[in-house]
Amino acid sequence: MDLVVAKFGGTSLASSRRIRNVARRLFAYQQQGYQVLAVVSAMGKTTDGLLTLAREVNAQPPARELDVLLATGEMVSMSLLAMAIEGLGGQAVSMTGRQAGIVTTTRHNKAQISRIQTGRIRRALDKQQIVIVAGFQGITRAGALTTLGRGGSDTSAVALAAALGAQGCELYTDVEGIYSADPRLVPRAHKLDSISYEEMLELAAAGAGVLQMRAVEFARNFGVELTCRSAFSDNPGTLIKEADMESALVSGIAYDNSEAKITIRGVPDALGIAATVFAAIAHAGISVDMIVQNISENGHTDISFTLPAGDLARLLPVLDAQVAKLGAREYLVDESITKLSLVGAGMRTNPGVAAKMFKVLSQHKINIEMISTSAIRISVVIATAKSEQALRALHTAFDLDGDEIFVESQLTPDEQAAKAQKGR
Ligand code: ADP
Ligand code: ASP
Ligand code: MG
Repeated sequence: MDLVVAKFGGTSLASSRRIRNVARRLFAYQQQGYQVLAVVSAMGKTTDGLLTLAREVNAQPPARELDVLLATGEMVSMSLLAMAIEGLGGQAVSMTGRQAGIVTTTRHNKAQISRIQTGRIRRALDKQQIVIVAGFQGITRAGALTTLGRGGSDTSAVALAAALGAQGCELYTDVEGIYSADPRLVPRAHKLDSISYEEMLELAAAGAGVLQMRAVEFARNFGVELTCRSAFSDNPGTLIKEADMESALVSGIAYDNSEAKITIRGVPDALGIAATVFAAIAHAGISVDMIVQNISENGHTDISFTLPAGDLARLLPVLDAQVAKLGAREYLVDESITKLSLVGAGMRTNPGVAAKMFKVLSQHKINIEMISTSAIRISVVIATAKSEQALRALHTAFDLDGDEIFVESQLTPDEQAAKAQKGR
């Protein structure tokens, strides 16, 4: 019997009405003869709300307790969805990450799935139950509860699909699929029918929040075909799969304003200095993204780098110590930066994308602060104040604008009916 694995994001489950909408979709799959496994996120903005609460009681909440708190969000959704399915006359069973056998590494808040013991899920599926697993959570071998980082339910779903040998995995969200840019920022963005794993991986790594990067990695490594589609329509969405022969020069643009830029000024330009600074930062468990070192003048240089803004509080004491130790002049923190990344597999064989990108930015009088590239990506860091303007200008310049203007379609069929009824 074929197995459907479907993941539903927070907006798709934001109210009891929407939970019933998801329940109907899953029940319909079962009635068509499929085995059904659903992975759920927390309802609406629950995870954000829990994070705010945690920070209200402790500005730097202990990672273990934060995991225990955040994991409750997905448990609310899973049980309500199971109840809704039973309400339709179906049979469903909800499972926490632990009950679903999801074993992770020990790093709280950013754990990675290391294995999945699928016995319990398989037994339930064989009993024709719709299995609903709480996304975003797992358990270490020692029994500690962990979460997988923001957007982690995507990864739970793809990892489960891979572990159960499912052919594909459907990721239901609040837009029609993967677009050429975030359609909320670029209303002329067009929906892609398909995109390669490689390009999706670059977009996700560059901060396009629509899918968690680890999910795309799992999918590529285990050959799971992903479909990203709307929970509010029956449109086919975007297929994420192996590359076609033809590749677009630019498939999409990622927008990321979650990073901050640090510049350490007046660093003595001696052998091993960069190694010392970045070893100390790594030791604090902080990952940096871009790094730029300037040409030295009078034996001193400046080093700039970017990192997740959420890690700043942990970084600053490390920098204070390093600046004093190395005899650097000072460091500056800039939180109003944005990274824009053009991604396209066609870049590999066609030169000139970077030149055109820089020209468009200069025509709009936008200063580039940092640049980094991979074989199929060019990223720049610019001031946040001009970032949305830059994003739209690049989108137009690289011929990505579609014919339609994006409109929110977050109504389930019965929400639409209720609205129409009211309007009468
Ligand atoms: P879910 O709760 O379903 O996981 P997310 O909020 O995590 O949903 O991801 C969906 C959102 O990602 C969209 O509403 C959109 O604003 C944003 N997004 C960013 N980049 C893109 C893109 N390239 N294509 C589609 N959506 C994008
Ligand atoms: N609820 C978690 C989050 O908001 C996980 C997810 O939605 O994928 O990040
Ligand atoms: Mg998400």
